[in-house]
Amino acid sequence: MLATDQPMLIGYMVVLLSTTVILAYMLAATVRKRREAGQRVVSVLRCTSCNISVKRGFREGDYVGKIVDDKCPQCGGSMVVESIYEEKVESASTLLLYGFKNKKDKG
Ligand SMILES: [Zn+2]
Repeated sequence: MLATDQPMLIGYMVVLLSTTVILAYMLAATVRKRREAGQRVVSVLRCTSCNISVKRGFREGDYVGKIVDDKCPQCGGSMVVESIYEEKVESASTLLLYGFKNKKDKG
C-alpha cells in the first residue's frame, strides 16, 4: 500500500531537512565563535615617562606612534602605541597546563 508509505517518507524528509539546517547553523556558529575567540588584536603601549610597556586590546583608531588617552598605570604619564599585532588566544585549559609546566620547570 503506497498510502501508508507516504507519511513516513515525508517524516524522513522533515528529519533530514531539520538535521541539515541544525548542522549548518552549528557549523556557522562554531566558525564565528572560533574567529572571535581564537585571535585578537592587541596594542602595546609604552609610557613616555618611565618607559614601561602595557598591553591592551586594540581599539579602533590605534596606530603605531599614536599618543593614546590611556595613562601609565605606574606614573600616570602619557602612553604611545609601540606596536600592534594579532595574538592567538590559547584555550584556558592549554594556558593552565602550559603555565603549570613552566612553573614546574623553573623550580
Ligand atoms: Zn610611566
